[in-house]
Amino acid sequence: MNCPLCKSSDTESFEVREDALYYRYCVGCGSFYLNDTSQQDRTIYERPAEMYFGQEYQERYQELFNYFRKTIEFNIGKEKGSFLEIGFCNPAILTMLAKEGWQTTGIDLTTCEELETILNKANVRFIHDDVLNTNLDEQFDVVWATHVVEHFCLRDLEFLLEQMRNWVSDTGIIIITSPDAGLRFTNHPLLLNFLKPAEHHFVCSESAFLNIARRCGLRRIWSQIAHQDQGFQTKGEWRMAFRKSDVPR
Ligand SMILES: [Zn+2]
Repeated sequence: MNCPLCKSSDTESFEVREDALYYRYCVGCGSFYLNDTSQQDRTIYERPAEMYFGQEYQERYQELFNYFRKTIEFNIGKEKGSFLEIGFCNPAILTMLAKEGWQTTGIDLTTCEELETILNKANVRFIHDDVLNTNLDEQFDVVWATHVVEHFCLRDLEFLLEQMRNWVSDTGIIIITSPDAGLRFTNHPLLLNFLKPAEHHFVCSESAFLNIARRCGLRRIWSQIAHQDQGFQTKGEWRMAFRKSDVPR
């Protein structure tokens, strides 16, 4: 079986649980993909409600935004602006930014009604829609997707990145974080948490993702491997910021 991304046939089976073979690891590009070819074209959206409202998640995601704050200010050239969160609308970040005076928008296909109520109350615009099939036609200073891209199959991921490119302004930036398939090199135990067939479909190394992003018209302006970050849920990830590749530096 060849890798859907780089077409390499140099792959290893990777067992997540005993007696079950769920993933293949591509030695060529460092990605994990589902072993079952009939599942490879699926994109999975489900998130448990505690991911939206758990106290610990809220604080960690606020910390994550604060970590990026200086990078964002420097690159967009102002302290606040318009912000779009994609896929997983985190009430912690969206309500915090709305309170600070950002124009905040979240787009999410969640069935969690409580989320919409909370966001509306906090003056966050909530769009209940599918990021792969939406009429959203605006541009934002910051387009934010943390722990979202790994839920998409490769074909949908490429379409999502093209959408994100359309949604970011020429002076704006895109921020993406995702579990790092590079954890494979250290056999880090966290890797097993990230490879759950029910949740993650295509887990990339930093360099594999960068290749996809470039193909989709994005230029990387910043990156970090955060394996040591003590924040749970954000531990063991790569983080990257992008601009549209065709705007002047
Ligand atoms: Zn590959």
